[in-house]
Amino acid sequence: MTAGSTTAVPAASSADAVHALLAAGSIADVSLISAEHDLHTTLLPQPVDSPGIDKRAARLLDALAAILVSRAQHEVIAIGAQVQHSNDLSDHSGKLQLVLAANAALPQTIQAYLEEVWKCMQLLAEHRQQLRLPEAKDQQRARMAELIYRHNFPKFLRRVRKREAAALRFLEAMQNHITKEDALQYDSTAAVLSMLIHYSELIDLLSAHQVGGKNEVSVDVVSDPNFLPTMDGLWLAFRNLRSMGEHSFHLWSLRLPDHSTVELWRFFNKVTLIHGSIAELESAARSTRLYRLFRKKLFVEIVDYPRKRVTLPTSQDAWATLIDTALNSAQPLKPIQPRVIQSTAAALSTRFSDKSVSCEIHCECKILQHFTTTAYKIKPINYIGVSKLSCTGCTAVFDSYNKLQNSQGHRFYTRGAHGKWYFPWFLPKVGGGVKQIDFTNRVYRKLAGQYAQCLKTVALSHSSALSEGSQEVSGTPEDFMYHKAKIVGFFDKIKA
Ligand SMILES: [Zn+2]
Repeated sequence: MTAGSTTAVPAASSADAVHALLAAGSIADVSLISAEHDLHTTLLPQPVDSPGIDKRAARLLDALAAILVSRAQHEVIAIGAQVQHSNDLSDHSGKLQLVLAANAALPQTIQAYLEEVWKCMQLLAEHRQQLRLPEAKDQQRARMAELIYRHNFPKFLRRVRKREAAALRFLEAMQNHITKEDALQYDSTAAVLSMLIHYSELIDLLSAHQVGGKNEVSVDVVSDPNFLPTMDGLWLAFRNLRSMGEHSFHLWSLRLPDHSTVELWRFFNKVTLIHGSIAELESAARSTRLYRLFRKKLFVEIVDYPRKRVTLPTSQDAWATLIDTALNSAQPLKPIQPRVIQSTAAALSTRFSDKSVSCEIHCECKILQHFTTTAYKIKPINYIGVSKLSCTGCTAVFDSYNKLQNSQGHRFYTRGAHGKWYFPWFLPKVGGGVKQIDFTNRVYRKLAGQYAQCLKTVALSHSSALSEGSQEVSGTPEDFMYHKAKIVGFFDKIKA
């Protein structure tokens, strides 16, 4: 957009038109996207299953991104990797370069922390062949888990506390309405109950280490000898439930004090996220395919780009023109009523009364920009791990970049999208043989199409990160014996 233009509408397909569309989508988001879409896109995300992606490496990178998060809120971290292989198979030297980016400044200790975690994984990989040393392995695993929970503790505590009252009421209701025999008869009931019992034990543990208000819990709780076993049990129950498929616990909802509900899986998915990531790191270190990776020398690099100012349309009319242009480019099957456009434009001009907004490039896009605009000696892995599913803007970026690559071009993938529109947001620069103007144009058209759908209140197309629960190995009989023993102990304790 030129500052002196009379209409103050960014030219169609310009970077500022992309930014304005995302701003428009971000306020439409709340009211216009169906709840069903939200349910499907956030469901138990696992790495995408596209040809050419090394799923094992993808899961490792997603787990690393998850354990890097430490702040209680608003922190998203992405991680890319470059692996230097040696031509000589017996030579395990070479290097692994991990590239980190965040949506805001990273803590200064992040590099040392990641190196420390990596060292734990290296030791686990070494122990891999020494089957006679199970204690050493367990010790190593416990050390790694403690290190990770200490780093992540503010975030972990927030997740655990978020639905505490509702989850404990749910356990109480189950205990009043379900007999021990019922719980022992049905695997899914046994797993739900086992999960809740472990959760309530975790809450007791947190109370025992409370040093003030509810949210002032000493981080030393993670070194309590009961912490890891409790989390192991909670994670096992959650994993078993997940393996039973979507419907095993989607139907179970937590009733919140405001009478709204939250699905049980959504809450426990977050509570167990770090534990699942630790399990993933452990299994990567022990994998026969990946363990060589742990012999390479690790280098950690942090990439960042300065925030930039985005100029938004300056009036209701300018917003209406922007929406009109986007709809024309999207060519919706049925025209959108002018009054919908006018009321949306009015809402936008009220919401964005600050015409100039400082915007950050989202972390996964920072890594894409880094990998495609920097001359590098070692080719990056085509998967970028992210601690959270990508927003609509970032999804359009990856999609557009990949579509513009020729058949030999190097594409990049992330875990998938949650379907939400976020603003502030800034369009990254791309290279790698893709022209910025074509890229911007493509992102614009993609977002315009989605925005048109949004205005029609049609749910967006489902993400590729849909449930992969069915692919998971289902629980073993031993798992359920464990849950049932837990339940028997629980009911016996109540009776006593
Ligand atoms: Zn994003």
